[in-house]
Amino acid sequence: MANQEEFFKKVVAHAKEYGFIFPSSEIYDGLAAVYDYGQLGVELKNNIKQYWWKAMVQMHDNIVGLDSAIFMHPRIWKASGHVDAFNDPLIDNRDSKKRYRADVLIEDHIAKIEDKIKKEVDKAHKRFGEAFDREQFVSTNARVVEYQKQIDDIRNRYAECMNANDLAGLKQMILDLEIVCPVSGTRNWTDVRQFNLMFATKMGSVIDDSDTLYLRPETAQGIFVNFLNVQKSGRMKVPFGIAQIGKAFRNEIVARQFIFRMREFEQMEMQFFVRPGTELEWFKYWKDERLKWHLSMGMPAEKYRYHDHEKLAHYANAATDIEFEFPFGFKELEGIHSRTNFDLGRHSEFSGKKLQYFDSELNESYTPYVVETSIGVDRTVLAVFSHALHDETLEDGSTRTVLSLPAKLAPYKVAVLPLVKKDGMPEMAHDIVERLRPQMMVQYDEKDAIGRRYRRQDAIGTPLCITVDSDSTNDNSVTVRHRDTMQQERVSIDNLQGYISANI
Ligand code: ATP
Repeated sequence: MANQEEFFKKVVAHAKEYGFIFPSSEIYDGLAAVYDYGQLGVELKNNIKQYWWKAMVQMHDNIVGLDSAIFMHPRIWKASGHVDAFNDPLIDNRDSKKRYRADVLIEDHIAKIEDKIKKEVDKAHKRFGEAFDREQFVSTNARVVEYQKQIDDIRNRYAECMNANDLAGLKQMILDLEIVCPVSGTRNWTDVRQFNLMFATKMGSVIDDSDTLYLRPETAQGIFVNFLNVQKSGRMKVPFGIAQIGKAFRNEIVARQFIFRMREFEQMEMQFFVRPGTELEWFKYWKDERLKWHLSMGMPAEKYRYHDHEKLAHYANAATDIEFEFPFGFKELEGIHSRTNFDLGRHSEFSGKKLQYFDSELNESYTPYVVETSIGVDRTVLAVFSHALHDETLEDGSTRTVLSLPAKLAPYKVAVLPLVKKDGMPEMAHDIVERLRPQMMVQYDEKDAIGRRYRRQDAIGTPLCITVDSDSTNDNSVTVRHRDTMQQERVSIDNLQGYISANI
């Protein structure tokens, strides 16, 4: 755990030092759980958004994009259920005066038991070596079975409390599980209360209740209220999807995990409209597709897992999370929800407009069902960034810090470095930069010794460094160095573009 904490601190420090992520309003001592993306962070974030947009919109005939306003009619949040039910259960510790989400305290308790299982499995794995059968061990080892039973019992009891909105029951669980405040170490808890997460603001100059607006806590509602506009103007046929990337705002109770839980963040959401009765098939389809998308970025499968929900939101008939192993353990990265016809139905009811689709094949009108995929941009940045960052000890005993970002996401694809600042090398290097610039992000760097410049590019994740040396002006070739292997190859300038495309 201490190691994990150390590593997480390193992630935060590295992100700041190299211009990826800064605390918001830092010169005014910051604003809790709000962050700014720096010159490299914005590139990484844009690359992730583009990669998602391409996969979801560009690669599908039947998915189109949307960019709806953040301000929306206040009745939308009544209709969606957010005014009445977008709450988190909060609890305070009287000694430390710290506030927690009751569900997070319980999840963290479960994570500790999961840790114990992992330790048993690792121990057995070492003992049995190659012959180790994980499945069999987990289902038969008495200790592991007992731990798993504890987890299942907690989850069931938690689901029962949440489904019945039993806040006293939730508190009793925290007491029974002997959960202590991580700061004070005591069990001196207040009662559990519900807390609405939406930010309210006022529009116009008349101060009365009717002009209270909410900053959207999700982008999805902008899609639902435009369902008919898009369907009719785009002549869309069910099944079809509408995708949107945009800011969302939540007044999170506990926000101390860097960009994992922010009060202002960005979502990439896609609502897929389907025939009633087919939604669970589509749910399964998108569950598979979305995991494939994560892996296609070049991330390893063992970092991901599904977590099916025991407690379903008021609108859902099936839901799962794709969890990622962040530096602080497995946590939700993306949600996939079968939202039934709840949203369109409610907006029909509240707006008085019929939000239906005429299915010419069935010759009938219906309110489509919806399967949603919803992923946080910032959590994806954190997943990719923290997975990429590592230290390496080299053969000569020195160390280097490398950010092994997937090449397609790296802020700069290439750095061009003249070996020294003379003999025509800078001019030639500038010439290469100008040639590559229209196709990709390129950085020119001539400051410091070449070794230090390589390290700098390693630390910001640039996959390739191109070095112009004294031979280059004669043989019209350059040395290309690969970030991860540190191998170098001589490449003719005429073939450079092709070489780069094949390697990023
Ligand atoms: P959590 O349980 O972690 O609060 P959630 O279940 O409320 O998340 P959803 O409402 O399903 O999250 O939102 C979809 C996605 O939006 C999440 O999977 C996550 O990636 C992202 N997200 C939600 N809240 C935040 C936040 N406060 N900061 C950053 N990203 C967030």
